[in-house]
Amino acid sequence: MDKKGNNNIDKTLTKLSLNKEAPKSAFILLMLIYGISIFLTMRTSTAHGFVSIGGNIISYSAFTGMFSMLGNICIICLVMLFRRMGYIVSMTLLLMQFPMMVVNVFLRGNLSAISGFFSNILIIGAISILYFSYRNVLRYQQSIREQAVTDRLTGLPNRFACSELMTDLQRRSERFALVSIDLNNFKSINDTMGHDTGDEVLKETARRWKELANSGDTGTVDFIARNTGDEYLLIISNYDSLGDIEKTINAYKTELEKKITIDNCDYYLTACFGYTMFPEDTDIIENLYLYADAVLHKLKKNSGGSRILRFSQDILNAEHTLEIERKIRTALNDNKILFHLQPQYDMNHKLRGFEALARMKNDDGSYISPADFIPIAEKTGLVDRIDMRVFELAVDFMDKVSGETNADFILSVNVSVKHLMKNNFIDEIRSIMDSHNVSPERIEIEITESIMIDSAEKALQRIDEIKAMGIKVAIDDFGTGYSSLSYLNNFPSDLLKIDKSFIDQVNYSESSKQYVAMIISIGHILDLKVISEGVESADQIDILKDIGCDYIQGYVWGRPMPPEEAGTLVRSTGK
Ligand code: C2E
Ligand code: MG
Ligand code: MG
Repeated sequence: MDKKGNNNIDKTLTKLSLNKEAPKSAFILLMLIYGISIFLTMRTSTAHGFVSIGGNIISYSAFTGMFSMLGNICIICLVMLFRRMGYIVSMTLLLMQFPMMVVNVFLRGNLSAISGFFSNILIIGAISILYFSYRNVLRYQQSIREQAVTDRLTGLPNRFACSELMTDLQRRSERFALVSIDLNNFKSINDTMGHDTGDEVLKETARRWKELANSGDTGTVDFIARNTGDEYLLIISNYDSLGDIEKTINAYKTELEKKITIDNCDYYLTACFGYTMFPEDTDIIENLYLYADAVLHKLKKNSGGSRILRFSQDILNAEHTLEIERKIRTALNDNKILFHLQPQYDMNHKLRGFEALARMKNDDGSYISPADFIPIAEKTGLVDRIDMRVFELAVDFMDKVSGETNADFILSVNVSVKHLMKNNFIDEIRSIMDSHNVSPERIEIEITESIMIDSAEKALQRIDEIKAMGIKVAIDDFGTGYSSLSYLNNFPSDLLKIDKSFIDQVNYSESSKQYVAMIISIGHILDLKVISEGVESADQIDILKDIGCDYIQGYVWGRPMPPEEAGTLVRSTGK
């Protein structure tokens, strides 16, 4: 981009569209080789001696052709790499040699220079053809590139040009701000006055902003581009402070808000301006777009006049939450909530059962972690539907597999505390159980330990109801919630699941080992079974066996797997 006071969008665009020439050092090197090869050509053509190479006697003049060829190669490279300048320099060098050749032939009687004369004429012809045909190709290439970086409707640069400019600024370590602009209520102009009027509004907006950017009146160097539809992009550089950026954005806002008259109708436009800064907010170009758009979305949610806002991390978190929420809703509506099953074993590696874990996929087929989407589902009240979907799928699985194999295994399902507290929870569970041929003793509901502290009374009542149906209850992530022993004593659960964070330490921290041993003892005193979660190594298994753990769940013996694989596992164990 040009310096202050000489800011011109078209010039910047042309610069961006030009193919870069080779570096100056290449020019100097070619000239040097050319000079040496011409000098050697002249010397060898007049020398009368011989040189012995590998036993062969060769006359000096035999090298003349070789050096002359080297000189010609340099000339061709100059034209190819430095185009116009290379062509002028090459022509000058070649033409300058003619007087010397005339002197050599006619005054000194050196007839061998005649071949150089014809060789020069040939190379002049060759580089002229090369230069003029290559120039046409370049012109064509450049016009294609200009089209590629220009928006057809408004004539402004497009998003691609913005990316090029930002990459250029990034390469030069220049800081800048990217502003994403969206016109307010533009759709209503299109809908009520027609697309032609809409187009005129977009063109007029573009014309005004381009004029402002080119005038340099804002005091910063600005590059305005059209993104898509009624969205524009503005790149601001050469500023001193945040205040300068806001001042510049305000100038664009003021320009936009001036009356626009099209076909005798007046329009008053406003817009939202969301901006983000390089490198303060991020030094990745793609993220700059994401951040600026995230700010814009936030602004657009609250309709109103023109608004300006800078990116902050909070905005991104909110955007992420919204995006995940949208994905959960789509997955629920399209029946795309899946589940995986992680095996649980007793200490002799005999299959006890499986824990059902919710799974959801991104559009590209990769999985979104439940650690990411379950908390958001809880916040947005969607977790009930996820829980029930997984519950139903898992019970369905059990119904089919145990029908085929007569296998006897436990199926654990996670239930969010919030969901458990809902009045219709028991009815939902009952209706799924009623529609399947699965014995309730083989179903286990996992509830996190926090429930005992947060809502002990109501939770107790719920758990009693679950137990009355014959379903087992497990306390998940035990050890992390600081629940008191008296709660645990009153809690009619069947299984304690020791959290992975304690198991991680068990083979190299004596205190962790003692802590886990203590949980196991307490569990046994209260007549509960104990399972260790997140067991990853054989060492851990040995220690857990020593201290009396009942069951193991962890990558060491099995990762969560798709239901088909779990079915195969059940069949292979012959349970
Ligand atoms: P959780 O109920 O404690 O489930 C155990 C988590 O530990 C699972 O993660 C499992 O894949 C992981 N895990 C098991 N063994 C190992 C191991 O050896 N190493 C490591 N690094 N990880 C291991 P996942 O599937 O990502 O689930 C995370 C959490 O999401 C679950 O923790 C549970 O709290 C929640 N969740 C999953 N499915 C559901 C659901 O259907 N409903 C509700 N409400 N919550 C769910
Ligand atoms: Mg669990
Ligand atoms: Mg757990």
